[in-house]
Amino acid sequence: MTFELRPGETIADALPPAEAGLVFVGRIRTPWTDRAACPRQGRADGPVCTIEVFEPWASGGALDGIEAHHRIEVLYWLHLARRDLLRQTPMTHGRAYGTFALRSPLRPNPIGTSIVELLGREGAVLRVRGLDCLDGTPLLDLKPERSGFQPPAPPTPGDAEIG
Ligand code: SAM
Repeated sequence: MTFELRPGETIADALPPAEAGLVFVGRIRTPWTDRAACPRQGRADGPVCTIEVFEPWASGGALDGIEAHHRIEVLYWLHLARRDLLRQTPMTHGRAYGTFALRSPLRPNPIGTSIVELLGREGAVLRVRGLDCLDGTPLLDLKPERSGFQPPAPPTPGDAEIG
């Protein structure tokens, strides 16, 4: 995929070597095959999408209990994103911003997050609503939405730092 720079955009000369290893734990299936057609952010009334969880997580128990959560946070790897932009000019804004001042997919570690509604689970496949990524986007992680999560033990002073 080729990307042309827009006015005001700057890129890094070189990126340092990778320092973390990630593992793709699944794949996201959505109706979108073209970035231009993909929503900028997921919507509560968006289409139903599916999340396929790979082995060993699928049958190994990693999904046990997830049905208890109506809203989950999905973390995914925006695998087609350019990673060297320092300043970028969103099409709808007309001026350049720093990469870390945007939720653009174009970032050094192109991690996307969405809070989605969990509609159901059939084995290793979750049906969800509220995503904004391309069909085939690799899945990094699933977590219960924070606001619905109760700590299992009485609060301790350290909880404030964990947030
Ligand atoms: N909701 C996430 C977030 O806030 O972290 C992602 C927001 S990002 C603005 C969503 C956009 O990323 C989509 O509109 C599409 O243009 C682009 N995108 C989606 N899937 C992608 C992928 N797999 N690789 C690169 N870009 C992708």
